[in-house]
Amino acid sequence: MWMRSLFHEGEYLVIQSYPREHKLMVEHRSFDYENAKSHCELENLAHDYTSFSLRIFHDEQLWNVDYEGKPQSLSKQQDWRIAQEYLEAHYAMHTDAEVVVCQCSYPYFLSLTSHISNNGESMTSWQPLTCLVRDLGRDIQTCPNCNASLVRADESEDDDFDFDDQVSRPIACIGCANYHGVDYGDNVLVCGIHPNGWDSENCPDYHP
Ligand SMILES: [Zn+2]
Repeated sequence: MWMRSLFHEGEYLVIQSYPREHKLMVEHRSFDYENAKSHCELENLAHDYTSFSLRIFHDEQLWNVDYEGKPQSLSKQQDWRIAQEYLEAHYAMHTDAEVVVCQCSYPYFLSLTSHISNNGESMTSWQPLTCLVRDLGRDIQTCPNCNASLVRADESEDDDFDFDDQVSRPIACIGCANYHGVDYGDNVLVCGIHPNGWDSENCPDYHP
């Protein structure tokens, strides 16, 4: 079935970038860059606990914009479409399963599954699965969008450390080669260029 996109080529979208929901929350739409930009700034001033970002719809995807409002880089946050059956499982009562949103905005499905461990014990663990309309039911270990580890290893201390590292990594640093993120006692050195990290999502020194 052909699904028409809700947005139009060249359209600016002011989207909610924090907190992230299962669905893309679009606050404002406009074909005028200045209009969209000022709307985005006003929304950010008006809300303390919600942040908004500007994107442009181009080639059927959301893009970050440059200072002239042209598409610059592919946005981590997209208009993800979750398949209905997974949404139903998420909202159903008494299921050991839920739709979780990755730090990068990518939604995936976590379900409690039983398996037999190496030493023959029966164990349960949370298995992440893809749940998008176009890509569903795949077992995944890392986020297909940002590569963060999605597997929570309750038993292994080593893996716990990795998971903590991933959740504390700033959004701007996901997938960036400059990311350092080592804790030196009182200070965390985020990277050599921006020792305290970068506030917004679009770090000018992002290097994949
Ligand atoms: Zn992700």
